[in-house]
Amino acid sequence: MLLSALRDGRWTVSWPGSGQASLERQFARRFAEYLGASHTIAVDHGSGALVLALELLDVGPGDEVIVPAMTWVATASAVLRVGALPVLADVDPDSGCISPDAVAALISPRTRAVICVHLACTVADLDDLLAIASGAGVHVIEDVAQAHGGRWRGRRLGTWGTIGAFSFQSGKVLAAGEGGALVVGSEDEWSRGLQLRADARTYAEPLPGAMELVERGDVIGANRTMSELHAAILLDRLPHLDAENMHRDAQAALLSRVLAEQAPWVRVVRPASPYAQRSIYELALRVDRRVLDRTSLERMSCALTAELQRSVYITDAPLFDSLLFRPHTLGRYRAAWTQEGLARSFGRQFPGTVAYAASTLLIHHSALLGDERDVKDLVDALLKVGRAIDDGQLAR
Ligand SMILES: *Cc1c(COP(=O)(O)O)cnc(C)c1O
Repeated sequence: MLLSALRDGRWTVSWPGSGQASLERQFARRFAEYLGASHTIAVDHGSGALVLALELLDVGPGDEVIVPAMTWVATASAVLRVGALPVLADVDPDSGCISPDAVAALISPRTRAVICVHLACTVADLDDLLAIASGAGVHVIEDVAQAHGGRWRGRRLGTWGTIGAFSFQSGKVLAAGEGGALVVGSEDEWSRGLQLRADARTYAEPLPGAMELVERGDVIGANRTMSELHAAILLDRLPHLDAENMHRDAQAALLSRVLAEQAPWVRVVRPASPYAQRSIYELALRVDRRVLDRTSLERMSCALTAELQRSVYITDAPLFDSLLFRPHTLGRYRAAWTQEGLARSFGRQFPGTVAYAASTLLIHHSALLGDERDVKDLVDALLKVGRAIDDGQLAR
């Protein structure tokens, strides 16, 4: 499909087509069907999808949005990009997902939304979050960049919050190089979302030689449309997602069982709730405190990477420690980043986040697409590194 899209010469929705719906429109429809959602909107990046979600809710200067302290920086920088203040909440030390109790304690009259991230291979506690948010009149935005196809109570992730935001960047389990999508619940949100991402234009009937976008102007937008080439890749890849997710799930389940028998000092992190069905973007391994007393997580990650010839890595730095999250370095963000804003955003302890980062190793999902031999290699590498730690060879 990519080659035919390339040859077709219509590389964007904002160019006349042959009378067929654009590929990005077709993908948005298919993805909505896949999720069981009424509408999705295809966009250029996951980060842009988060910005659009906030614009759809008309979040702006003076508003606060609660975000987890453990996530990719885009979750928080999206809030700055609309002029609002990201307020960091602590995460659950086991799952790494935003703690509903922390959210409840942080809600203020300025809070407009909470962004939850279904992190790595877990699912945020949606029951508690949605109850707290709706009690306070606050929206929940799901950042589903790391959980395509996962479910809560049988329903797909991304369909629970007011809005869901996906990324299709190369590393994700549904990948197109770059790309993103927004899940919305109503016809009105869909129409406004389309305009926000196409310079205030929405869809017209696809007619031969005519533009498929029509000027509307209900809300000013910018250009964040997905290219036809990216949409072609996604239309090809989407039908494989469920089978690949199931395969990864089975490999991880096998790994869990073998580790419980042979190396009980390390375990696969899994969602605690029976309502959650995981989608594994990164396999998170939890290393026992007694092992970490005798080595460091960094030394373990280097030894495992060397042993496996594949990257085993530590988590991103929590946002309060991250080189990537320094809002004062750009003039546009300084208005939100006053002394008071900084104290409101960062000014507390994050024991859950610190504990998660201090005990978690990550492996990319592609490591789970092979067979049992790959699981055995992983276990063998862990056993070997375990012996080296016992022998004092990896002392901190
Ligand atoms: C990848 C990712 C994003 C950003 O997506 P891009 O498409 O790279 O802009 C946002 N949030 C989380 C949690 C991510 O993992």
